[in-house]
Amino acid sequence: MIYGIKDAPLEDKNIVIRLDLNVPVQDGQVTDTTRIDRVKPTIDALREAGASKITILSHFGRPKGEEKPEFSLGFLSPVLSRCWGVDVGFGANSAEKITLLENLRFNPGEEKNDPDFAKELAAHGDIYINDAFSVSHRAHASVEAITKLLPSYAGLNLHKEIDALEKALSTPKKPVAAIIGGAKVSSKLSLIKNLLPKMDMIVLGGGMANTFFLAEGHDVGKSLAEADMTEEAKSILAEAKAKNCEIILPMDGLMAKEFAKGADYRETSIDNIASDEMMLDIGTQSAEMIKEKLGVAKTVLWNGPMGAFETPPFDHGTVAVARYVAERTKSGDVLSIGGGGDTVSALSHAGVSDDFSYISTAGGAFLEWLEGKTLPGIAALDR
Ligand code: AMP
Repeated sequence: MIYGIKDAPLEDKNIVIRLDLNVPVQDGQVTDTTRIDRVKPTIDALREAGASKITILSHFGRPKGEEKPEFSLGFLSPVLSRCWGVDVGFGANSAEKITLLENLRFNPGEEKNDPDFAKELAAHGDIYINDAFSVSHRAHASVEAITKLLPSYAGLNLHKEIDALEKALSTPKKPVAAIIGGAKVSSKLSLIKNLLPKMDMIVLGGGMANTFFLAEGHDVGKSLAEADMTEEAKSILAEAKAKNCEIILPMDGLMAKEFAKGADYRETSIDNIASDEMMLDIGTQSAEMIKEKLGVAKTVLWNGPMGAFETPPFDHGTVAVARYVAERTKSGDVLSIGGGGDTVSALSHAGVSDDFSYISTAGGAFLEWLEGKTLPGIAALDR
């Protein structure tokens, strides 16, 4: 059982909270405040509940256990103050009610899950809260070791993320479909294997599909494919059959000789790829077929684009399928969850970021959860 902040006695308590404030920065300016905005409700809830002091822990970049000034978090407290509408101080000696500590990864103890470093962090509070799902696949001092020292709770975002993932994987409304695209089969094999027994259908698209075409004996020309993975692909197809999970592969695609924006292409079936061509997106027929298949699904899980969506016109397939899932979500027919790596930008490119039931911004943690792995930071909260 994971307890959230509603279960925590917060009044007059000093709170230590782990956030992921590893925000994108260009020329000293934060270019996207999503991660900061998303945790505002948690900060508001702590203040409203009468917490006396809130100490914020976060990492930033990869200083690798050394104090490197370019990775200092000092620049961020004014940004937090602005986004949250409340004064946020910086450093362990700050007198503000809300204080951001220096980059956790300046201390080598953080990534080593060092109990002494965890003790240092725990000394700032009576209660620990983790509201950073995206780092919960790491057994780090501020995520794991600290939970052994303080009563520990899940923040509002972490709870939401776990709820969404459980709705899709543990207790989904059936039929449940996964859409798995992107570039690399090898890195997503364990994910597909874990999903097979849980899904009624898996749509494979993007560069991933090419390896499966190879496994089925098609010539994929110069398409991105992993020839050494064809046996694995075959075994996945066989296992899917045995487990009654329908694997849906595209039947046509956009073929081009050149991987460039606005490149010439032709649309043809997948058994008609010329030796100097690459399949860079699924075709119109495939998009229609996939939409029809997804038409019966009540739950849809999405990781990885259907094509090289960053390079139009090879974004057609991703956009068409994303908009369809978004429409069915808006009409209340489907629960849709997307996440991991490029999926967030693919869905945003399709203009559906606000129309999925849940979009996870956690890359590695989201994928590890889909792979069925135990996340140390989540297991540590489970009592
Ligand atoms: P991943 O990180 O595995 O989800 O892969 C995402 C990347 O896969 C994106 O950058 C896409 O451009 C790329 N991608 C998707 N489909 C294809 C394709 N058919 N050929 C080449 N790259 C692709």
